[in-house]
Amino acid sequence: MADHVVVIGLGRFGESVALELMATGADVLGIDIGEDPVARMNARLTHAVQADATREEVLRQLGVDEAEYVVVAIGDSIEASLLTSSLVLSFGVPQLWAKAVSDAHGRILEQIGVHHVVHPEREIGRRVAHLLRARLQDYI
Ligand code: ATP
Repeated sequence: MADHVVVIGLGRFGESVALELMATGADVLGIDIGEDPVARMNARLTHAVQADATREEVLRQLGVDEAEYVVVAIGDSIEASLLTSSLVLSFGVPQLWAKAVSDAHGRILEQIGVHHVVHPEREIGRRVAHLLRARLQDYI
């Protein structure tokens, strides 16, 4: 059986995570509060559902309480990111990954017990600097 991953928030980051997981053979349930992201991803994910992930009963109905891998990719609304992450943790999901949009956001996600906190801009920035550094050395 394919690995099953729930991706909550289908903005640029969540969409990219979800599509890459699909391409590597995982089953992906995508959840977003917006109609457009869900319509855009409908045919590209195993399932795409329009729902508010800050509501516990909604997450239970979608089986998120049974999931092993969950990614919270909500950024702009730190409140929605924290509420959703806290609910997912309360289900005892063993692997929760969450995106942080600032140092403070990342710190709180870590404090509430999120297993993997990701800072996409910071991490890509570092990666680009290392790639650039390697090229600079080629010319020394
Ligand atoms: P990105 O940079 O990845 O595009 P962002 O940092 O701008 O995203 P948002 O736009 O806030 O972050 O969130 C990403 C997605 O999460 C959006 O498509 C948004 O509709 C969705 N989202 C926001 N709140 C909720 C919620 N309560 N439940 C489900 N999805 C949500």
